[in-house]
Amino acid sequence: MTQTEEQTLSTGDTPHVPIEKIVSLCKRRGFVYPNSEIYGGVSGIYDFGPLGVELRNNIRRFWWWSMVQTNDNVVGIEGSIITHPRVWEASGHVENFVDRLVDCKNCKRRFRVDHLPEENVKQNKCPVCGGELTEPRKFNLMMETYIGVVEGERMKTYLRGEACQNIYLDYDNVLKSSRVQIPFGICQIGKAFRNEVTPGNFLFRQREFEQWDLQFFVHPSEMQQWFDYWKERRFEWYKSIITHKDRLRFRPHGPDELAHYAKQAFDVEYQTILGWQEWEGIHWRQDWDLSRHSEYSGQDLSYTDPETRERYIPWIVETSGGVDRTFLNLLIDAYEEEPPSGKDKEGRTVLRLNPMLAPVKVAVLPLQKNREELVTTAKELHSKLRRLMVSQYDEVSNIGRRYRRQDEIGTPFCVTIDFTTLEDSTVTVRERDSMAQIRLPMNEVPAYLLERVRWDYSV
Ligand SMILES: [Zn+2]
Repeated sequence: MTQTEEQTLSTGDTPHVPIEKIVSLCKRRGFVYPNSEIYGGVSGIYDFGPLGVELRNNIRRFWWWSMVQTNDNVVGIEGSIITHPRVWEASGHVENFVDRLVDCKNCKRRFRVDHLPEENVKQNKCPVCGGELTEPRKFNLMMETYIGVVEGERMKTYLRGEACQNIYLDYDNVLKSSRVQIPFGICQIGKAFRNEVTPGNFLFRQREFEQWDLQFFVHPSEMQQWFDYWKERRFEWYKSIITHKDRLRFRPHGPDELAHYAKQAFDVEYQTILGWQEWEGIHWRQDWDLSRHSEYSGQDLSYTDPETRERYIPWIVETSGGVDRTFLNLLIDAYEEEPPSGKDKEGRTVLRLNPMLAPVKVAVLPLQKNREELVTTAKELHSKLRRLMVSQYDEVSNIGRRYRRQDEIGTPFCVTIDFTTLEDSTVTVRERDSMAQIRLPMNEVPAYLLERVRWDYSV
């Protein structure tokens, strides 16, 4: 991406950092690696390093905590990646999960039709060189695989194209095994696969990614009410974990984007360097999914109200987002390069991640590594803290540089053991964003930190 493109894409009050800086930080500090890099890599597929996996686990656990654990009428499942192939006929994926692509006859570049400016589609003209484009061709995005070993008896199926299908498949079992009653929801976090023809833009468009879904089952007469409820809740949830609140918005789907059964749909969008990007979809799915699976499986998936005995196919509110998008958006939201100032003469890169999501919660630092009492005391405190939260012990290089190393990975607190500690058992606690330092008795440190890194969210 050129400098000019960056500037035109970045709008609003808060300028964006170029995505290259995020990519570089991710690799340098162990958040994200290209997959199979020693073999040249596979585009659109990534691995997550030591800090990346901590951040992902925190993102997943916070979502689960706020969606499942703190809601009495929501339960969770974990479905499999491979399902019966009929699932994908019922869902419409086999027929409709396609990208339409065109090639430029002149420069040989390939484009997704839905990514081309309307002008170019109408005039059949390459947006890069102006050459003539081929007729659109369809590519199915489902990743195929085979079950069984005996030739001729092998069954062709797919790695799931979206994770939410498992929820419809397990809906009846959940109903019969867990005492939930309508209205209720089922949540799941899981991998999904999309054979993107043109993956790219780092984690924005991947071939393997992790989704989270809530499918909330309601009586048709209560659909609007629950749709509004979840729409509001999900927006507030995202707002609660970012710093730049002005980069979040709702975008209603236009009539062309709405599925035929949907009365309305909204995307929660985040403004990235590439413009506004979908972060989560709030979808009015009505009775589409359970009706289709009833029809294709021959199993009646209707619900009988235990009191009124009314029988109906439940309607569904879906909220669908994902770990990867949240991971990337949080890094973009948190990344900041601070120029040198009175507080920090060298300037610093800081990740202002929400403390409860930060991969490392605290770093314990002896002021000097050549003083045994400092080192011993620091190691003792670290071994207490690491049982409660992710803690790092670091004694390498001067204290200012160690603070900056922690700032760069978003560690909200640093605890320094110095010579005063040896006299009165107090330590210095430094906070990442303000760089403010306070003095605390060492035995109060665990409670002080726990209070500041625990799950915290309420509407
Ligand atoms: Zn061209």
